[in-house]
Amino acid sequence: MDQAPYAVYEVRRIYYAARTPDCRAHHGRSCRSPKWWCRQPLTEQCRADHPGGDYEPWCPGHRECRGPAKKGPAWRSVRTVWEGDRRTAEQLIQQFASGHGLALERGETSGIQRAHYLTADGGFPAAAAFAVAAPAGVRDKQRTYFEEAWTRHTGDVGPRWDPLRPLPTPDPPRPTGGKPLIRQARSVGGVTLIA
Ligand SMILES: [Zn+2]
Ligand SMILES: [Zn+2]
Repeated sequence: MDQAPYAVYEVRRIYYAARTPDCRAHHGRSCRSPKWWCRQPLTEQCRADHPGGDYEPWCPGHRECRGPAKKGPAWRSVRTVWEGDRRTAEQLIQQFASGHGLALERGETSGIQRAHYLTADGGFPAAAAFAVAAPAGVRDKQRTYFEEAWTRHTGDVGPRWDPLRPLPTPDPPRPTGGKPLIRQARSVGGVTLIA
């Protein structure tokens, strides 16, 4: 295992707030005119104090009216930022952590140490990011406009480390009506980076 090529990956995630039942009920499949209650559920207090009309809920959105947002879809970015031997890869993670005063944390399933430089807490939307040493071979991946969304949510521009290579060109769109699309976790050497 010590001979296998290793890499340092920078993994960034944006967790969006889920749409509320009211949003689905009143705005249909896609929400084109978002209100505050599309992402934050109305509290019982609000429903009692601000009864809505027939068309959709009405409320000015006082603090006591807003319930906590729930976790919705996540956008993920994985960039390879270094490749080489395992020992050096793990040293780079430790140096990054100590240089920035970061605690190293073990992944829940992988047990591999990660240097988290941004942690998600306090509701949604939220952003989280870490660097990790793992076997080489994970394909770089991030969706279009990830960087714009990342900057909007964090104020950061791009990843903290320089990526080793540009993003691969996206796969061509699949023809519709074919086989059902099955999403698979990308796992290399027992390390799952994208679930
Ligand atoms: Zn809505
Ligand atoms: Zn209200």
